[in-house]
Amino acid sequence: MPRHEAMLYELLQGNRVRCNLCARRCIISDGGVGFCGVRRNEGGKLYSLSYAVACAANVDPIGKKPLSHFHPGALVMSIATVGCNFRCQFCDNWSISQERDIVGRDFPPEEVVRATMEHGCQGISYTYTEPTIFFEYAYDTAVLAHKHGLFNTFVTNGYMTLEAIEIIAPYLDAATVDFKGGGDPEFYRKFSMVPSVEPIFEALKEMRKRNIHVEVTNLVVPKIGDSIERIKELASWIRENLGEDTPFHLLRFHPDYKLTDIPSTEIRTLEKAYEAAREAGLNYVYLGNVPGHKYENTYCPSCRELVIKRFGFDIVRWNLTADMRCPKCGRQIAIKGKFHRTGLSFPYPVI
Ligand code: SF4
Repeated sequence: MPRHEAMLYELLQGNRVRCNLCARRCIISDGGVGFCGVRRNEGGKLYSLSYAVACAANVDPIGKKPLSHFHPGALVMSIATVGCNFRCQFCDNWSISQERDIVGRDFPPEEVVRATMEHGCQGISYTYTEPTIFFEYAYDTAVLAHKHGLFNTFVTNGYMTLEAIEIIAPYLDAATVDFKGGGDPEFYRKFSMVPSVEPIFEALKEMRKRNIHVEVTNLVVPKIGDSIERIKELASWIRENLGEDTPFHLLRFHPDYKLTDIPSTEIRTLEKAYEAAREAGLNYVYLGNVPGHKYENTYCPSCRELVIKRFGFDIVRWNLTADMRCPKCGRQIAIKGKFHRTGLSFPYPVI
């Protein structure tokens, strides 16, 4: 079985170790494995078992992450290994996130970077499962990617320690941080086996402090995690702590894994959540998993001119000046990086 010595762990008495990558800070006995299933203590040394064993590697439009204000139109090489530090009962990637055998194919960092460039991608996304749990693989790949002029993005549940963020920050250009159920602690305890949501908020503030481009998502789960009031509270927190220009994506839930008796989120509920987040003062709010909806688009916060038209993950019309301003009123639109035409797809239905 491949293994690679872990980063960020400490030796305790009796050959036990503490892993300090994610906020669980598992204490692992000799021979034991952490909660995520991919980090094992062997004689007082912690090893990553999934290093360079990719269970997924795909070329995706950056809009799929979703990142709407970072290198719009770019293509990214998306990689993942098995394992996760959450147990979300609704996970749509459960077949890999909850897998406990280390399955996948050898895909070392040098090959990931080479494949990224060969496929015409501008960056790499560490995604599908939680990148914190394959941190060493992500870190080595990210360092190499920067040397080749590629950017790196994490799609993460945000349950990272501040130490982990400090280490990856020089190489991490953007992060999508995913909330579920509006960040309700009870929802996290009951449906994801997460004892506290506080570390996610701390991680977000740390990313902001370290100048990592951040976009926040929230999965709106009918009946059990669709409180409009809570979504408004989360939006207010984002505005106060991350800034009013932070993109906020409200994602439609689809039944999956163990929560198949809950229906998809109604469009009207998503629209109410959108309105609440706008009322909380956020400039860029989006609906996700609703291809063709008008709230997939970017509108100028000042004059409401449609400046980026989308369908699903693709950009179908780009209506910004070369210096990323609204063509109608001249307001600067908060976008990091440049526009890449690789992600443009025609034709798509126009609403
Ligand atoms: S990364 Fe895994 S082993 Fe480390 S603290 Fe988190 S769940 Fe535990």
